[in-house]
Amino acid sequence: MNITFPHLGNTYIAAKVLFEGLGVDYTIPPLSSKKTLEIGCLYSPDDVCLPFKIMIGNYVESIQRGADTVLITGSCGPCRFGEYCELQKKILLSLDKDIKFIVIDEPAKIGIREFLNRLSMVAKDSKLSKAKKIKALSMAVKTINLIDNIEKECRFFAGFEKNKGEFARLLKTVKLEAIEAKGAEKTLKVLEEHYEKLKKIEIDNFKNPIKIGIIGEIYTIIDPLSNMYIEDILMNLGVSTRRTLYPSWWVKNTVLSGLKINFSKIYKESKEYLGLCIGGHARECIGEAILNYKHGFDGLIQIFPVGCMPEIVSKAILPDIERRYGIPILSLVVDEMTGEAGYYTRVEAFLDLIEGRKKLCI
Ligand code: SF4
Repeated sequence: MNITFPHLGNTYIAAKVLFEGLGVDYTIPPLSSKKTLEIGCLYSPDDVCLPFKIMIGNYVESIQRGADTVLITGSCGPCRFGEYCELQKKILLSLDKDIKFIVIDEPAKIGIREFLNRLSMVAKDSKLSKAKKIKALSMAVKTINLIDNIEKECRFFAGFEKNKGEFARLLKTVKLEAIEAKGAEKTLKVLEEHYEKLKKIEIDNFKNPIKIGIIGEIYTIIDPLSNMYIEDILMNLGVSTRRTLYPSWWVKNTVLSGLKINFSKIYKESKEYLGLCIGGHARECIGEAILNYKHGFDGLIQIFPVGCMPEIVSKAILPDIERRYGIPILSLVVDEMTGEAGYYTRVEAFLDLIEGRKKLCI
C-alpha cells in the first residue's frame, strides 16, 4: 500500500510525520499548481466545485508517482462534499486507475468504532507495536498544531514587524526545511526550532495595521492555489490576517464533535442566523464574521468556489452582519476561470476603503 492524500494547507507536513512515524509507504503530491488544476479540470464534471477538481489533479499526480490508496476526510453531507469520494473513485476507475479510498469521517456521523476502524486501515502495513503507532499519531497531531500555530502567528504579526518580510521568510523556510527533514522526530524538531525563532522576531506594538479576517469555504480559504495566494499578498502588503479554519481546527472539531462538545463560541455567535448545519462550514463563516468584529478586525474577506451551496447562503446573510456591526465585507467567488487582475484589483480597492475608514476614525 502506498498512501496519498489531497493537499489541504499544512496537512502534508503532518502526514509526512505520521507515515514516517508508522513506517508506511506514502506519496506527497506535488504542491498544487496550475498544472494540477488543469489535470483536475480535464477529468472532473464541469460544474463541480473547485476543491473537487484540484483534488483529482493531486490524485493523478500522486498515482503517476506510485500511490495506490487515497486517504481523505469525508462528510455525510448535506453539500457535495458528501459525494466526493464516490464520484472521485468512479472518475479514477474510468481512467483505469484502480485506487482504494480510506475516508475519515466524523465519529459523530459514523460512530467511534467505525472511525477507529478506518484509522487502523491507514496503519495496516505498519509492523510497529500499538504503542508506537499511537506515538506516531500523537506526533502528527502535534505537528499540525505546531505548523498551523506558526502560520497563524506569522500571518497576524506580519502587520506589526519592525523589519519587513521577516515573518514571511520564516514561514517559507520552516515549510521547506520540515519537508526536507529526514524522519518524524527531525521534522518536529525543525518546527520547534522555528517556533522559538518566531518568538524572537521584533514587533512594533505601536503600529496600527489593517486587520482582516479570512472567512468562507474551508478548502478555498486554506488552499493558496484556490484563493490565489491571498494571505501571502496581504502579508506582503503589511496587513494582519486572522483565519480560524486551519487543518488543526478541523482535527480538534472532528474529535470534539464525536464527544458531543463543539467550539461553542463560533456556534453561539452564528445561532441567530444559522441554527442548523447546512453543509460545508457556513455556520463557522457566520460565527467567525461576528467574532472577528468582536476581536477588533477592520474588515472581512469571504472566499468560496462558484456554486458552493453553503457559502451562497452565508453570502446572503453577511450583508446583514455588515450593516449591524459596521464591518466591511468583501466576497470573492473563485473558479478555474477567475482572472488575477480583476481579483487583485477588488482586494486593493477593499484595502483602500478600509484604510480611508481607519484615517477617519483617528
Ligand atoms: S462546501 Fe462548497 S465547495 Fe466545499 S464541497 Fe460543499 S459545495 Fe463544494
